[in-house]
Amino acid sequence: MGERRCLYCQQNFQPSKFQRRQAVCGEADCQRRRRADYHRRKLNADPEYREVCRDSPRKWRSRHPDYWKQYRQKNPESVEQNRQQQQLRDRKRRLRNLANNTSALDLKHSAAQVWLVGSGAADLANNNSAPAQIWVIEALSPHRGPVPPSCKQHPAGVAVDPAA
Ligand SMILES: [Zn+2]
Repeated sequence: MGERRCLYCQQNFQPSKFQRRQAVCGEADCQRRRRADYHRRKLNADPEYREVCRDSPRKWRSRHPDYWKQYRQKNPESVEQNRQQQQLRDRKRRLRNLANNTSALDLKHSAAQVWLVGSGAADLANNNSAPAQIWVIEALSPHRGPVPPSCKQHPAGVAVDPAA
């Protein structure tokens, strides 16, 4: 798919393959203008949108007290999905805090994922000693066998045999 000219900054850009009708480039300024224009048009055209924007969230909720209750009843699978995603976010946040609070100097990113299992995981996040099980499962690289040293690891002045 070819390039397109941005509606706002007039620069050429590559439209996203997920948004085939994209008329605005990805620059923050242009995206801000796009959202502002959308907001303005929607305010004129859509009375309900106007109402939602005029009200504070609190006022809106008090006028639509059952909105979320009904939404949850109508979309039980989305409720369950949200719950699981929230648990995952909580878990990640706890791990991040833990990583930031540690004094370990050799803490490194690794391709492996570490899952803390069991009730002790919560204690570990609180810096207490934890009886949690930790399973470290290493992601295997696609090729087996000894890894050839990278160019940087060859000592200076030593000839490198490309067939080795
Ligand atoms: Zn632009």
